[in-house]
Amino acid sequence: MSFELPTLNYSYDALEPMIDARTMEIHHTKHHAAYTSNLNAAIAGSADEKKTIEQILSAETLAPAVRNNGGGYYNHNLYWELLAPGGSTEPEGDLKKAIVNDFGSVDAFKEAFTKAAITRFGSGWAWLVKNDGKLLVGSTPNQDNPLMKVSDIKGTPILGIDVWEHAYYLNYQNRRPDYVEAFWKLINWDVVSRLFHG
Ligand code: MN
Repeated sequence: MSFELPTLNYSYDALEPMIDARTMEIHHTKHHAAYTSNLNAAIAGSADEKKTIEQILSAETLAPAVRNNGGGYYNHNLYWELLAPGGSTEPEGDLKKAIVNDFGSVDAFKEAFTKAAITRFGSGWAWLVKNDGKLLVGSTPNQDNPLMKVSDIKGTPILGIDVWEHAYYLNYQNRRPDYVEAFWKLINWDVVSRLFHG
């Protein structure tokens, strides 16, 4: 079995003006495509070929090529799914209750997540994860993620933002905070909620 680059269920320009079409196209057809094919090359002929991506990433140790490309494959699958072409919804129901319970308020959560995204030095991701029923915010370098044993923050990712420059540089150049602010206008909280309950 090999992993496949997912098809986006919206067009590259669907997230304009928050994320521009050219960035989306390059991000999907070049970056994500490369992680996918490099992951397949890295696991070819190994037992990983019979595993899910979650099983692969949660192994005790990861070869660098599997860590980087498997992480890149998984992280981007999640990222595309979390983006809402129609504009952001709002956290509701049990998810909202959990956010308020664990962070004090939705605004306090947004502040913590924004800080994690802005302060991640260099390339990486910021996350909202569920761990033992508790919600946590943190970040990882490169294409690491909270499923990996090497990650400082551990749990099931339910929201993630790519803060690699390739995710925003064409439109925002060095202004990562502006990209992170725009991201809040694009979150599909119905998907976050499904992952929270999943
Ligand atoms: Mn990326």
